[in-house]
Amino acid sequence: MVRESEIRAGEVAVEAPAATDAGLVFIGRIRTPWTSRLETPRQGRLDGPVCRLEIFEPWVAALQGIELYPSLEVIYWLHMSRRDLVLQSPKNDGAVRGTFSLRTPVRPNPLGTSMVNLVGVEGATVLVRGLDCLDGTPLVDLKPDRCKFTPLAPPQKGDYQVGD
Ligand code: SAM
Repeated sequence: MVRESEIRAGEVAVEAPAATDAGLVFIGRIRTPWTSRLETPRQGRLDGPVCRLEIFEPWVAALQGIELYPSLEVIYWLHMSRRDLVLQSPKNDGAVRGTFSLRTPVRPNPLGTSMVNLVGVEGATVLVRGLDCLDGTPLVDLKPDRCKFTPLAPPQKGDYQVGD
């Protein structure tokens, strides 16, 4: 069951440090058909509706080349989430799990990620399918599908050093 902000049986909130959203720069805004968390899909579907990533200046030039990647990773800030639960009851049945064992939007730093399919690029707007966020959700980053960057050969001894 999707939550608004209530605490359920068995859940535990902590006194979280004041949120500062340290140093994040939102690069755009996501436009979706969903205006309520109660109707937003729990995870995006690649046959879901086309959503729009509206990129802000000065980041529009950073879209160059993105059309080469049919599959993209979208990283966004689930801005309407509470951020103080350490134990949560996803089914609201009293059974709880730790926040880091869940993909819940309720987390200390409410980052969401989705793998989406690129539909097209129209100037400063990227059209995609596969999202699961509210209309107006702040956009943090866009990356090509990581599989396209998997090293071809396994790393050799000495390839990496501590701190790389
Ligand atoms: N796919 C992402 C992930 O796995 O990291 C997010 C998954 S999260 C379970 C998706 C849910 O977050 C939606 O069903 C909705 O209830 C909630 N949600 C979506 N956009 C949100 C926003 N901007 N602020 C707070 N909650 C949001």
